[in-house]
Amino acid sequence: MINIQNYINGKFINSINNEVIENYNPATGEEIATIPRSSPKDIQNAVNACEKAKLSWSKLSISERSKWLDKIANELEKRFEDVSKLESIDTGKPISLARTVDATRSVSNFRFFANLAKNMKEKQFEMNDAMNNVINKPVGIAGLITPWNLPLYLLSWKVAPALVMGNCIIAKPSELTPMTANLLAEIIDDVGLPKGVFNLVHGYGNECGQAVVEHPEINLISFTGGTETGKIVAKTAAPMFKKISLELGGKNATIILKDTDIKSNIKNIAKSAFLNQGQVCLCGSRILVHESIYSSFLEELLKYVSTMKIGDPLNEDTQLGSLISCEHREKVESYIKLAIEEGGEVVLGGERPKLNEKFANGAFLEPTVIIGLNHNSRTATEEIFGPVVTIHKFNEIDDAINIANCTKYGLAASIWTQDTNLGESIAERLDTGMVWINCWLHRDLRVPFGGVKSSGLGREGGLYSLQFFSELQNICTMDNTN
Ligand code: NAD
Repeated sequence: MINIQNYINGKFINSINNEVIENYNPATGEEIATIPRSSPKDIQNAVNACEKAKLSWSKLSISERSKWLDKIANELEKRFEDVSKLESIDTGKPISLARTVDATRSVSNFRFFANLAKNMKEKQFEMNDAMNNVINKPVGIAGLITPWNLPLYLLSWKVAPALVMGNCIIAKPSELTPMTANLLAEIIDDVGLPKGVFNLVHGYGNECGQAVVEHPEINLISFTGGTETGKIVAKTAAPMFKKISLELGGKNATIILKDTDIKSNIKNIAKSAFLNQGQVCLCGSRILVHESIYSSFLEELLKYVSTMKIGDPLNEDTQLGSLISCEHREKVESYIKLAIEEGGEVVLGGERPKLNEKFANGAFLEPTVIIGLNHNSRTATEEIFGPVVTIHKFNEIDDAINIANCTKYGLAASIWTQDTNLGESIAERLDTGMVWINCWLHRDLRVPFGGVKSSGLGREGGLYSLQFFSELQNICTMDNTN
């Protein structure tokens, strides 16, 4: 049990009102920490800290700032096992996943952006009589707001490019998963990053998060979270002309063409549906299968998913841990109930698993497969964000594309086929920001990441992140000498 504090101006401190919020391990129901319930006054202090630090941080060269990112990466790497354990305890995710995905990516995010920024070339456009130099300047103060499903992975994905481009930061992690953000603040303190450059403020979204978005001196908001929250963020930030990036929800289609080798791909297809208990924005929660292979696909999927081990997240063999909270499990269960009302049939799961006493209060839910739903039903078009997948048949490829495009979301999709040319031609017709063919969540950090429609605004990743976290300035110089 730890009492987490804010990290403002190089100091760990309580919120001004001294109020706290309890934080629980969702797999056991145990209280594991308290965090400050910060208010706009704490945000003001963080803004003051940024204001003081801003000038000297912005004057460093990109390669000097890259060195700071490398120092942070090295320390994070030393604490790899701490990151993995804290992430597992805080979110309920399997420790193996916390190691391979969360802890690994958090380190590589810092290394990747350090290296990319150092080698970034600023553009020049030569005219007959003048030279245009396009330079990247820091935006100023960056408000970074992140969700609970991949806590440090997503926070570091924003912190690294924001820092290297010379911004000062006010980070606001999810109130449900504060542990690794706090660990990052400890590391940043240990390596001696100039005070005020990175500030971490904990609290509720509608209080502390809202205060970040509303503050007139915070110039940029990078938000990852739900679509409904994204709307509030956009509505608040837009009239102030803040730079804004929104990475929101998804209802991603997995399209299985008739030539798919089901046996060799079923593990990856199941992973795309159930990784992190289905709590990844990219999870393929609607599987569209060609009718000629529907029965054999369903059989293989059910066979594989029924072998997935659910239970103690800290057990090395566990494949499915708990959901983020009992409240969230209730929301997911309400969709299973709705699916039945909408004419669906639950062919696997749908229940709370029977686990030993230690996990009796945990937010566990069996992986659930539902068939027989109309592709336009609410269950098949709304984001559930849990271990629930719906399966739909299609005959013509055009039908698959129409079904895939029929939700308000447009984040990602995957297509499974031996005919990669056909796969690519289908991909181009999908209204999503990302498509994987014969793979899923296969990430090259240089490529654009983000969605269209209600899945968000803007792109993260590689140079797209570096551009977002900087202001372009064109300097046109005409030589005045004879
Ligand atoms: P959420 O929207 O409830 O919360 C996200 C963050 O916003 C939290 O830190 C929260 O405290 C804060 N917040 C809440 N209200 C706010 C307000 N009025 N102003 C400012 N901040 C506020 O989302 P969640 O439940 O934490 O995360 C799950 C959602 O995130 C899912 O919809 C998922 O698809 C989405 N997500 C998207 C991506 C992506 O890259 N597109 C990645 C991960 C998660």
